[in-house]
Amino acid sequence: MINLILFGPPGSGKGTQAAHLVERYGLVHISTGDLFRQEIGNGTPLGKEAQAYISRGELVPDHITIGMLRNKVEAHPEAHGFIFDGFPRTIPQAEALDRLMAEEGAAIHLLIALEVEDEEIVRRIKGRAAISGRADDANESIIRNRIAVYKNETAPVFDYYARQGKSHRVNGIGSIEEIFQRLCIIIDPLVEPGESAPA
Ligand code: UDP
Ligand code: MG
Repeated sequence: MINLILFGPPGSGKGTQAAHLVERYGLVHISTGDLFRQEIGNGTPLGKEAQAYISRGELVPDHITIGMLRNKVEAHPEAHGFIFDGFPRTIPQAEALDRLMAEEGAAIHLLIALEVEDEEIVRRIKGRAAISGRADDANESIIRNRIAVYKNETAPVFDYYARQGKSHRVNGIGSIEEIFQRLCIIIDPLVEPGESAPA
């Protein structure tokens, strides 16, 4: 049982690595960005509200994001643990997540930050825009706003979990497999023997 926050700026590879981690550790992956895009795609009131913020590269307000996240966690009582991808993005979100985990008799064990510098992020996100079809990926000034929001509002979450001795940094430059190995070196010691499925 391990609950993990995959952290890092937009375009740092969180979604890509989360998919590999799910396979190895059997965790439930929750990406709040993906959840918002589903809500938008389904034309729900929540989606409509979130869309306005996302289109500007701003954060959706905490109460909306936290409520959506809580519903998703509560929908998976069978989970052996979660990978939180793109959440928490603010200190109040981190505090809410810790409370939610405590209510479930669980805790966050680990935060791993993928480190990638700004110009590489801009390059990657522009490159994926054609595939992702995301309007917030296609516009450089929105990408740069997302990076600024990350630095101002989200980066303090690293320090919040560092004070609990839970934060780690990983170089996010390299092949997908190389970066995956860097993550496994940190996670494996926290997974009980027999619980993991080594590749
Ligand atoms: N977003 C948000 N809170 C979240 C997740 C996403 O406000 O918890 C919004 C925010 O506007 C962000 C956008 O959704 O820029 C896309 O987020 P996602 O994590 O999918 O993309 P990434 O930042 O990883 O490129
Ligand atoms: Mg993502």
